[in-house]
Amino acid sequence: MVKIEELLTSGENIIKKQSRVMYEYAGGPTGDLYLTNMRLIFLPKKRWALLSPGALLGKDIIISLQGIRLVSKGSFGSVKVQSDKDHRFFVKLWNTSSWVDTIQQTLSSTQRQGPPRQQPRFQQSYNPPPPPPPPTNVQHCGNCGRPLEFIHKYNRWYCRTCQKYA
Ligand SMILES: [Zn+2]
Repeated sequence: MVKIEELLTSGENIIKKQSRVMYEYAGGPTGDLYLTNMRLIFLPKKRWALLSPGALLGKDIIISLQGIRLVSKGSFGSVKVQSDKDHRFFVKLWNTSSWVDTIQQTLSSTQRQGPPRQQPRFQQSYNPPPPPPPPTNVQHCGNCGRPLEFIHKYNRWYCRTCQKYA
């Protein structure tokens, strides 16, 4: 069985722990549930197999806090965690509130301290393409003195009064 200490990365510390937590359904696989400042980790006590198709076989369940979309109290003393899939951890009825609260607090503090979200970074790096340079100074007709009109198509100045290019 994997020890929690082997899984923790540098800067990761355990915020909350509970043993004899059941996963997925009451009477399901039993193990230790850990909340760290980075992840929610469930370590099964022994190799276990879920009968449902596609289920994990005796694997540790590691959920990155950044991937958690929703945490809520479920029925029968469970905590529901929605990330890429829905997880249910049965922590006993009297523990559900403290688990939900602690996970939510950790999530919000992680989001505050975390790297800047994509939106500001995108705004910083995004520069609109520069508009085509307009003719800098309005020229005046050497003949009549009126402002000339710049004709982009010919890239020349044109006097409407004299009807000729400058
Ligand atoms: Zn003119």
